[in-house]
Amino acid sequence: MKVLVCGGAGYIGSHTVYELIERGHDVVVFDSLVKGHKAAVHKDAKLYIGDLRDREAIYRVFKENNIDAVIDFAAFSLVGESCNKPLTYFDNNVYGTLRLLEAMNRADVKKIVFSSTAATYGEPKNIPIVESDPTEPINPYGETKLTVEKMLKWSDKAYGIKYVALRYFNAAGAHTSGEIGEDHSPESHLIPIILQTAAGVRDHISIFGDDYHTEDGTCVRDYIHVTDLADAHIKALEKLNRDNTSATYNLGNGKGFSVKEIVEMAKQVTGKPIKVLTESRRPGDPPTLIASSQRAIDELGWQPRFNTPEQIIATAWKWHSTHPNGYNDK
Ligand code: NAD
Ligand code: UDP
Repeated sequence: MKVLVCGGAGYIGSHTVYELIERGHDVVVFDSLVKGHKAAVHKDAKLYIGDLRDREAIYRVFKENNIDAVIDFAAFSLVGESCNKPLTYFDNNVYGTLRLLEAMNRADVKKIVFSSTAATYGEPKNIPIVESDPTEPINPYGETKLTVEKMLKWSDKAYGIKYVALRYFNAAGAHTSGEIGEDHSPESHLIPIILQTAAGVRDHISIFGDDYHTEDGTCVRDYIHVTDLADAHIKALEKLNRDNTSATYNLGNGKGFSVKEIVEMAKQVTGKPIKVLTESRRPGDPPTLIASSQRAIDELGWQPRFNTPEQIIATAWKWHSTHPNGYNDK
């Protein structure tokens, strides 16, 4: 297949491009590089640098390439920033994918896999979370992703664009080769911050709140390896080719670990001391998020291979210990 990967220079996108190429697909990457890295793009992928909101720039990619399907990772994804700049988030995340869908429709490309998020659920009432649970985002970031899901639903009905929306839980880890990994700027995610502390790039990790209603008072999350996410995208494309119907899936390991547990595991994996300070809660953090991924397991035939946080942290450590400043290109 010839697959267009929007946001393919970013963290999850670059890992998915590697996986697609390893499995023999042709890949075209479209990325503004506003957050991504040129060095993260596989040498066998064709790279277009442009902004999704630029109607002609994205349509040109379809005109110049015989695209069979699209995977869309391009978005801003910092929860805290989205609370301060909601319009920036709606502009980039909703308007960007709107322009992409327009270009797809114009080029008669009718299959898309979309990066959604556990943040669409807000504060869940039941654990583990299933896809039919209420979606009530508690931050603008989650709201932009839910808005795109709705746009996809109506684009299916009106234009026959078939989609798979993948609601990831906490993406973590790096490619086992150590060639690509996580490099966000600014970094806000727990595991890279812990490992940058272990690598001596940061002085300490701050735990945001130890007064939650969880066993040790810190937030509980479901960590899923980035290569397992990449695999789910390819299985989602295969599903669209197989039955041409739209669907939404959670992607997680189905087990929750607290912030304190992750810090302890990182100490074990790295063998390094990690200084910890406790600070007040970060706005917008639900206490516990754990996925039921049973639907993806049953319908996509997906099975995560990195089942424990220790395995996930070990791959991330291979990247962070050899690239303490990431791609070093910003
Ligand atoms: P990332 O920032 O590393 O990658 C996003 C990429 O999209 C970047 O390369 C950026 O330059 C590009 N981009 C952004 N806006 C663009 C635009 N308008 N036009 C063209 N390119 C644009 O993020 P990530 O961590 O790889 O996340 C990928 C996707 O997965 C995002 O949509 C995010 O919301 C979603 N997601 C991530 C996580 C996680 O834990 N990292 C969890 C749930 C969902
Ligand atoms: N967290 C933390 N310190 C940090 C970064 C994150 O205590 O420096 C906590 C955060 O409050 C949340 C969990 O770690 O409870 C996971 O946060 P992350 O940003 O990695 O992912 P999120 O769950 O927000 O998508």
